[in-house]
Amino acid sequence: MEPALARRVLDERRGSALREVIPSTMGEPLLWAGLDGLVDLCAERALSLNVTTNGTFPGRGAAAWAARLVPVASDVKISWNGATPATAAAVMPGLSLDAAVENVRVLVAARDTAARAGGRHCGVSFQVTVQEANVGELADIVRLAAALGVDRVKLNHVQTRLPALLATSLRRSPEAIARWNAAVDAVRAAAETARLPTGERVLLQNAVELAPDPASPAPRGPCPFVGREAWIHPDGRFAPCPHPAASQGGLGDFGSVAETPLRALWASDRFLALVAGYEDHAVCRTCPLRRPGGA
Ligand code: SF4
Repeated sequence: MEPALARRVLDERRGSALREVIPSTMGEPLLWAGLDGLVDLCAERALSLNVTTNGTFPGRGAAAWAARLVPVASDVKISWNGATPATAAAVMPGLSLDAAVENVRVLVAARDTAARAGGRHCGVSFQVTVQEANVGELADIVRLAAALGVDRVKLNHVQTRLPALLATSLRRSPEAIARWNAAVDAVRAAAETARLPTGERVLLQNAVELAPDPASPAPRGPCPFVGREAWIHPDGRFAPCPHPAASQGGLGDFGSVAETPLRALWASDRFLALVAGYEDHAVCRTCPLRRPGGA
């Protein structure tokens, strides 16, 4: 996205209910040319930044990025996919687990220093894409999080957007679901016994057992996105949510902030109709994002 477009949206939303900005979930946000400007804008306007990064802290290193992000971030989520170097590198090719661990130490130290000085709380989380490759290491990831002072481990199921990903899913068969359910038990036990330096438990998100039925592993709940978050694509198109169908117009055409103010798109009849009736939409009826962790 052109940084000027992001700025224009935030200028237009001044004084609105906007509270948090999530820069990019499709790529590494710390490589985006507009991030420094966005950090400054959020700081100036008391908006929280919610960042998901691959944890390599490119360009300036973990200490300098932590100094930029911690004062303004509500949460820094680090994509974390293994407790052993081999698994971490298998899921994120080229990743050095040792270097990633050291970066987390630097980030957590910066967070703790800021907290001691009375700064706002910046959460630090591991975000795990759970799959066959790492299901056996999830409890160790929780133990590692506890040792490092990482507050939260968020477990998301791999979304099988490509046929090649089907074999990696832990929702594809009763046997795979059983492996996931065993891992849920293991991560809960790990969070109980391996505590943070404060003595608190690591917060587990989406550690929820599934029914052994790949067609219906869990009931669908309310949509966590529609009517709550505005998803703006790099070209300015407005989407109700991160479902891939939404980016392709599968939920409708909701316009673009490149042409129309976000407040008008948010108040449009077409968007309000989806917010009110999404449960009856064909895409939403089968949407995995309405289950914990995208199950
Ligand atoms: S497709 Fe899923 S995430 Fe998107 S609006 Fe529908 S229920 Fe929500």
